[in-house]
Amino acid sequence: MTEEARAKVVATRTVPFNPVRPIYFMHTPDITPDEKHLALETLDEILDIAGIRGEIPVNDLGVWRQPNYRRHDGQLAPHMSVDWYVDRWLDQQRRQVNASEGAAQLLFDPWNEEEPHYDVILTAQDLYTPETNFVVGVAHRRRGTITSVKMFRYMKDKGMEREAKKQELFHEVGHVFGLPDEKRGFDLEYSLGAHCTNSCALRQGLSVPRDWIGFANDRLATGQVYCEPCTEILRAYFGK
Ligand SMILES: [Zn+2]
Ligand SMILES: [Zn+2]
Repeated sequence: MTEEARAKVVATRTVPFNPVRPIYFMHTPDITPDEKHLALETLDEILDIAGIRGEIPVNDLGVWRQPNYRRHDGQLAPHMSVDWYVDRWLDQQRRQVNASEGAAQLLFDPWNEEEPHYDVILTAQDLYTPETNFVVGVAHRRRGTITSVKMFRYMKDKGMEREAKKQELFHEVGHVFGLPDEKRGFDLEYSLGAHCTNSCALRQGLSVPRDWIGFANDRLATGQVYCEPCTEILRAYFGK
């Protein structure tokens, strides 16, 4: 690296983080129009709770693919399609996508260097991380999430299926916006990362979809998506 390039890197790193930046929503082709609509609706609700709706655009990129997203040899080009962030990390033997690999790529995303934004990627692939049998999503604070509806599909109660899918997006996108914030030091547990112990979308649900259906029912009964401390932290994240 040249001195000039190094100076540029240092300069970029010292720019204070501005949380007000657009959300890029994209999804793999296996997402239904209803699931997409549901996700966009949920993002609006989160921005509403945060008091930032209208100030942060939600860009629907659909099945995002740049013109040359496949190379001549048929391989997916890095960072050029939603396929590369998700399907590229499919483990053929497990028939599951390694979501921690895909989500880690978001941390080195050239598009984010160009225009800082959040990525919300929705898929119906079965996700896993090296520490788990499966996960419903992986989130990186201040950067983005890859979330799967797979475990919530085909419920008998279609209304509850929608609510459970919303519940997991409230959860994963909550992580992206800094929840539950370990520094607060109370109402926390550590189960695959920091989670909230209140009646809250940031509770950890290990039994899928049963726990998530329970959490969605709690939310519908109380009308509260995030508990009070988490709501406060969410608003503070955006300077509200
Ligand atoms: Zn979580
Ligand atoms: Zn909470």
